[in-house]
Amino acid sequence: AAAQAGEGEPAFYSENRREAMLHHLRTEAALHDALAEDQFELWLQPKLSLTDNRIAGAEALIRWRLPSGELVPPGRFIPVAESSGFIRRITPWVLATAFRIAAELRDGREGRFVLAVNITPADLADTDFVNQMRALCAEHGLPPEAIEIELTETMLCETGTDTIGRLQTLREAGFRVAIDDFGTGYSSLGYLQQLPVDTLKIDKQFVDGVPGEAGSDTVIRAIIHLAHDFGLKTVAEGIENEDQLAYLRDAGVALGQGFHIARPMPTGEFAGWLEQWNS
Ligand code: C2E
Ligand code: MG
Ligand code: MG
Ligand code: MG
Repeated sequence: AAAQAGEGEPAFYSENRREAMLHHLRTEAALHDALAEDQFELWLQPKLSLTDNRIAGAEALIRWRLPSGELVPPGRFIPVAESSGFIRRITPWVLATAFRIAAELRDGREGRFVLAVNITPADLADTDFVNQMRALCAEHGLPPEAIEIELTETMLCETGTDTIGRLQTLREAGFRVAIDDFGTGYSSLGYLQQLPVDTLKIDKQFVDGVPGEAGSDTVIRAIIHLAHDFGLKTVAEGIENEDQLAYLRDAGVALGQGFHIARPMPTGEFAGWLEQWNS
């Protein structure tokens, strides 16, 4: 097909592929510099408890600040880092930074604050992963339940059974586990049943459709039902307006995240934002 290089293929296809490969290689090299030169930033997006309107925690989202000042979103470099394996060098930076931030945010505040961190199954392949998490807890005086790990449903479905064992160990150590972008992958009920997780994050694409779109409404209600029966918590991502928020609250979703509540913000702004929210 068109995506395969071959004879008689229009020249621009292979030109695009060559361009894409070069871009990939350049990005990969630049990522090494980014880590060495401390160009990554961790931004925070609040998670709102829809039952009591309090901030229950936040999600840590990585950004790459180029020397030019430009801010690169993760969608433009995390996939490259994942396919090259460099993600296994980035994640330790993310974790070290996230644990430090979590400890600062818990300090003197309500002890319930949970900070969520995005990882990939490749990170879990490291046999030392859980030990590193434990060591970070000890270093920062943090209880493990202050940290939640987010893994996308698609990625979970693509990996072997060992991921399940690793998640099990994480949960036994007291950390929380969430399935991100839930509803977009193909996890069967049987698979879900054996997955050691605490939380389902309803994907933005369904939140986009409510209220009003019958399909999205059906999916969201099914996820809430499923979560309830499996004893899992629900989070809705990508809430952009008041109608969506009201719908999700009425439907019984526990937590909400989205631009309507707050956009992801630099760490330094978060404590001030939280104070303002609470007053
Ligand atoms: P995600 O974990 O599903 O994160 C949600 C994404 O939706 C974030 O994009 C967030 O900024 C965006 N978002 C939140 N609320 C709204 C909204 O109301 N409207 C819209 N349009 N967007 C909203 P971001 O920060 O660009 O991150 C994209 C993805 O990159 C994340 O999806 C996650 O899979 C990945 N990612 C981010 N940080 C990390 C990291 O530290 N490590 C790894 N491995 N992946 C990361
Ligand atoms: Mg996430
Ligand atoms: Mg998500
Ligand atoms: Mg999503």
